Amino acid sequence: MTEIRPGERIGVLGLARSGVAASRLALKQGAEVYASDLSRNEATEAAAVQLRALGADVDTGVHDLEKLAACSRIVLSPGIPLTAKILSAPGIAGIPVVPEIEFAFHELSAPVVTVTGTNGKTTVTALIAHLLRTAGIDAEAGGNIGVALSELALREPQPAVAVVEASSFQLGATTDFACSVGVLTNLAPDHLDWYGSVEEYYADKAKMYRGASPRSRWVLNGEDEEALALPGDAPGERYVVRIESPLEPGERGGYLSADGWLTLRPDSENHRILASSELKIRGPHNVANALFAALAAYLVGAPIDRLAEGLRSFSPIPHRLEPVAEKNGVLWINDSKATNIASTLVAIRGMDRPTVLLLGGRHKGEPYRKLIPRMEGRVKQVIAYGEAADQVVADLGGAIPVEKVEGRFEVVLARAAAHAESGDTVLLSPACSSYDMFESYEHRGREFRRIVEEELG
Ligand code: ADP
Repeated sequence: MTEIRPGERIGVLGLARSGVAASRLALKQGAEVYASDLSRNEATEAAAVQLRALGADVDTGVHDLEKLAACSRIVLSPGIPLTAKILSAPGIAGIPVVPEIEFAFHELSAPVVTVTGTNGKTTVTALIAHLLRTAGIDAEAGGNIGVALSELALREPQPAVAVVEASSFQLGATTDFACSVGVLTNLAPDHLDWYGSVEEYYADKAKMYRGASPRSRWVLNGEDEEALALPGDAPGERYVVRIESPLEPGERGGYLSADGWLTLRPDSENHRILASSELKIRGPHNVANALFAALAAYLVGAPIDRLAEGLRSFSPIPHRLEPVAEKNGVLWINDSKATNIASTLVAIRGMDRPTVLLLGGRHKGEPYRKLIPRMEGRVKQVIAYGEAADQVVADLGGAIPVEKVEGRFEVVLARAAAHAESGDTVLLSPACSSYDMFESYEHRGREFRRIVEEELG
């Protein structure tokens, strides 16, 4: 797959943010565009109006097979899987399909830093861009993070470095995608409702290494054996991050020193960067995230002595262990993005005060029992709410004090407030999806903040 050729006829499936940006990019480069989306609603209609004004042929509510069959390739929005029926329709099967990130990648002149992994992608992506910008480099983040990669390619001038958050779904569809620096934060079972097995999920992540060359640089998690093994024998330099122990002799990378300093050793010398106590992002997993990001930023050009400033000034991203208020000595933390057990486990590990934990929402299938060993000595009370409340009580009851609270989120939070004393933390890290009571995890987090700020005395 290559750059866009003027006059080429390109199909774009999906009219959300990425599809619109990919269409605009193709039009800007002189291609003809046919874009379509099966849903017809306010958003897709607005997208259609915008793209038609730029010269595209657009359908909503239908994909026109004949028009699509006349395209030389089809750009796939992130929300549409490779297995979508339309792609195997007569006349369509056989047309090359390219995911939006790969399509945009070929139009970018900037070096690309790719971040993938089960957890921590958004934090690490945003932090790399922040570190680079603090060091005076015009970096921008895109991909899964809310800005399509095509939007970065459309920017004039293009950014000097593109930092891309890539999900396994997007990587899985790539055939020709290469990055200068690739970061793999960790691997844990996830999305098993979609993938047939853990191996298939990991295989999609491994596609990041397919475009490897001797000039590639890989940042790896030295404390996650499966993630460490994923590159196999891909060429390129490897850098390892450790927070439990120093680097081993001969290893290059970053680690947390015994006296709590983020330390980089990209070559043979150790550079002490910052005391971890100066980070605003909380918990040991965020120390690892800071090391991943600092290494990646250094590897694409940030001077080593400019990293501390950016690490110190980076604030938690909303809904990820985000402190929202301190009231009557009680700290309220919004970790609404924690929608699986693995995320809630790391959140609890980051708590340094007695904690009242809000657990609940729509159950995703994993047992809550796994949380018990991590809770002991940290979590004084669990509030179980939402659809999953009975399951939470059944799994935790007897081991940890649990109270089931029914009703609106205001009532749930008022009960949490009643259990919390000065010096405690109330943590929303629900380990469930939000869809029983909210539109999204962002909506749940915003409501948490609003109620804490406005309604709790
Ligand atoms: P992603 O974009 O991969 O979902 P985020 O940066 O949005 O990751 O973080 C989501 C949640 O994942 C956080 O609230 C935290 O609980 C957990 N998390 C973040 N970083 C790590 C890490 N390095 N290891 C394990 N869990 C993490």
